[in-house]
Amino acid sequence: MSLTFHLECSVPCGHGPFNAAERHHLCVCGRPLLARYDWTRIGATWKREALVNAPPSMWRYAPALPLGPDDRPVTLGEGWTPLFPAPRLGAELGLTQLLIKDEALNPTNSFKARGMSAAVTRAQALGATTLAVPSAGNAACALAAYAANAGVEARVFMPKDVKTPFIRECQLHGAEVTLVDGLITDAGRLAAEQGRPLGWYDISTLKEPYRAEGKKTMGYEIAEQLGWTWPDWIIYPTGGGTGIVGIWKACEELEQLGWVSGPRPRLISVQAEGCAPIVRAFHGGAEAAEPWHDATTVADGLRVPAAVGDMLVLRALRDSGGGAVAVADNEMVSGMRDLGRYTGIGAAPEGGATLAALRRLVDDGTIGPHDRVVLLNTGGALKYLDVLD
Ligand SMILES: *Cc1c(COP(=O)(O)O)cnc(C)c1O
Repeated sequence: MSLTFHLECSVPCGHGPFNAAERHHLCVCGRPLLARYDWTRIGATWKREALVNAPPSMWRYAPALPLGPDDRPVTLGEGWTPLFPAPRLGAELGLTQLLIKDEALNPTNSFKARGMSAAVTRAQALGATTLAVPSAGNAACALAAYAANAGVEARVFMPKDVKTPFIRECQLHGAEVTLVDGLITDAGRLAAEQGRPLGWYDISTLKEPYRAEGKKTMGYEIAEQLGWTWPDWIIYPTGGGTGIVGIWKACEELEQLGWVSGPRPRLISVQAEGCAPIVRAFHGGAEAAEPWHDATTVADGLRVPAAVGDMLVLRALRDSGGGAVAVADNEMVSGMRDLGRYTGIGAAPEGGATLAALRRLVDDGTIGPHDRVVLLNTGGALKYLDVLD
């Protein structure tokens, strides 16, 4: 049996397609590669009705994931997270249909688990034995856990001001931790320099094609949990951008499968006022984002001054009829407190940021009182409790 997927340039630039049975990271043009599936072949035997018996993890969508016929998923039970109605918080905002997808319930407490489950599965199938990632914290913890489960080595590179729980959790799973004087972009440079001569498999955001595949399952789940319909709005905190890129990819794929019809959701990217390259580019009408200087925010996952997927994120926001909002750190922290008090959900600052953005969009009339809105709480509160002081 051959693979049901291959790789294509995301631009596309005219190079490719590329064989997914070989190792590929970026396209020869330097842009991200994306996995493309043979939906006719997959759809012939895969029906959405069969999901009633599917596992309660993101691997319930295995035919739409990068899994070869002889591969077993590297899984810790990631995904199939609840989509909670939040009526008390909704009432406080004047909304009748507010829902929260709580990604804090994933292994290592963030949605990064989904991407790493898919990427480590594929890296192992391709024979990789040492996997390296630069990270603001959560991607490193997720890689450490999935590498441990798979029995391969993890090398993680994080800014030296990363909070201690992230370092400890990586070490708990046996990863080798390098702290870097600088930001995630500096960590990425160092990881690439050290890894290239040693043949490490680079698992950086959108520099390999499979983390986005894991993350697209958030879109599949939202559609399935809403009875194969889309909400009006999905509000997502954006750093490297795989969440937005993945959810938009899910919209395309579910249409190709014929599982969801009707208008796609409008996607809102939320960034921090101290690091908002996508928001600036979106409002400036640019196709790509200029790097942000002196990036600062308490939301580590949003402290990404430059992202290789910038064009893809901007395209998804515009094609969806969505938008981009920057919020202040104190608004994110208020958002964490409100999520905590009104819903019982423990949110990371990034999750708090989605609520802060929602308040703006309700106040300025962009989002109406009866619109169906999904907030993504991308990570849990416990590793960030110090920001509440
Ligand atoms: C990484 C991260 C983000 C940013 O996600 P992208 O998909 O890379 O844009 C948001 N929230 C949390 C908690 C994160 O760890």
